[in-house]
Amino acid sequence: MAIETLTEMKMWIDGGWAESSSGTWIDVRNPATGQVIGRVPAGTSADVDRAVAAGRAAFKDGRWRSKWIPERVAILNKLADLIDEHTAEIAELETAQTGTALKLRRDSDIPFSADNLRFFATAIRHLEGKAAAEYSGSHTSMTRREPLGVVGQIAPWNYPFMMAIWKIGPALAAGNSVVLKPATVTPLTTLMLGELAKEAGLPDGVLNIVTGRGDVVGAAIAAHPDIDLVSLTGDSETGKKIQALASANLKRVHLELGGKAPFIVYADADLDAAARGATAAGFVNAGQDCTAATRIYVQKPVYDEFLALLKGYVETVRVGDPLDPSTDMGTLISAAQLARVEGFVERARQAGATIVTGGHRVDVPGLPGPFYQPTVVAGLGQDAEIVQNEVFGPVLTVLPFETEEEVLEKSNDIRYGLASSVWTKDVFKAMRAAQQLNFGAVWVNDHLPIASEMPHGGFKQSGFGKDMSSYSFEEYTQVKHVMIELTGEADKGWHYTIWGDAKE
Ligand code: NAD
Repeated sequence: MAIETLTEMKMWIDGGWAESSSGTWIDVRNPATGQVIGRVPAGTSADVDRAVAAGRAAFKDGRWRSKWIPERVAILNKLADLIDEHTAEIAELETAQTGTALKLRRDSDIPFSADNLRFFATAIRHLEGKAAAEYSGSHTSMTRREPLGVVGQIAPWNYPFMMAIWKIGPALAAGNSVVLKPATVTPLTTLMLGELAKEAGLPDGVLNIVTGRGDVVGAAIAAHPDIDLVSLTGDSETGKKIQALASANLKRVHLELGGKAPFIVYADADLDAAARGATAAGFVNAGQDCTAATRIYVQKPVYDEFLALLKGYVETVRVGDPLDPSTDMGTLISAAQLARVEGFVERARQAGATIVTGGHRVDVPGLPGPFYQPTVVAGLGQDAEIVQNEVFGPVLTVLPFETEEEVLEKSNDIRYGLASSVWTKDVFKAMRAAQQLNFGAVWVNDHLPIASEMPHGGFKQSGFGKDMSSYSFEEYTQVKHVMIELTGEADKGWHYTIWGDAKE
């Protein structure tokens, strides 16, 4: 897995590579090997100013938003095609900077990113206001949906490329300019987007990418007086900071934050399907996934049987070299993340939990990275720290329940509200769960699948604002009411209510 050449990339501003005013760089490491694989500029607030100015100039002269619609559609489609052409290269670099198993990148999130862009390319043709009508009696009213202007977007490290696409896709489709900040530790694949977008024909200045630290570049974006909307995918605590910073100019806020998904297994469920589903949904991206199944509630009559099935499947998850095509789970993102996961499991152990399987680091020959066993924790109650908080690692907690009322209440008893699932063959129970689970997504007899056409986003402290689908497209627009007077009369019948007397 030795990387022979370093990927040195600058920031992308106004259609070209740009140095940072700081003159300093941030190393990018491969979490599996510990090697430095690249470096990017440590951006500053002055760099953000430059990027915003480029975005504003592009927005003002309309080089993108006023472009003939078929051309805009073709450019986003071309960008999707270029992603397809470069999938292998993007996936390898993504794996190198995240430690995630290559097959997830190559066969899932990079191809899905291209599909997502194609959805938004099509959506451009459907950006429409509501049908006009004469609501006042003497005017024709119509609504227009217009782009916001310059949007700032801040992405996390777990799916760096896909999150970048989920952000820029709707924003660009709606005609905005973008200033995008990738996560500090995973900027490399996002920077590839600058050149690919230029090759696709996106005009200069429309997409700008500024690398650097969250509390420097991210904070400068969130507080910037000339940015009209800030979008973050990240931790709920970061969301609170961004919302506070954004209040300076009352910019719109779009937040996709943490999750702690319940996974409800009723006694009538297909237990084998549910145990397989929990294994896939719990250990996707080593559990570093905001929709990952984390709280497995199992009805008492089938608890032991389900736990045995789950243990069996979890013990077949192959942890190893992320580049090995047979690896299911690579490393965690960093030693700090490993320490966080270990801390949660250790405190659970001390609180009396049973570690059903896992619970330790894994030694992978030749790779010093932060590998951790797929872990199942049982024997704790609803209030346990590990049940209530986002671990963001390969750890499932399993809890028994007796009644439907109890499990729906426990599922909702969490500050997050992103994703949930229910496993049953009883359509009535499934429908009641779909209605009562207080989460932005409810799966029935599955957990994880997403579609470009459908919204993804949270309730409660998982944030607000949707990714993907026409809902996210609309969130990157604003609604204007246009009212056209039809009579041509100078002295209108209603003027007297403000000035003068009523006409006889
Ligand atoms: P994070 O909040 O630490 O970082 C996210 C981004 O915010 C990064 O680019 C970071 O540099 C930036 N940032 C950090 N501090 C900042 C500040 N003070 N001001 C401005 N920007 C700042 O999150 P992370 O660790 O990269 O990602 C993991 C989190 O993201 C988890 O909580 C996970 O659940 C969440 N997530 C949510 C979704 C979703 O769709 N809801 C998707 C993926 C990840």
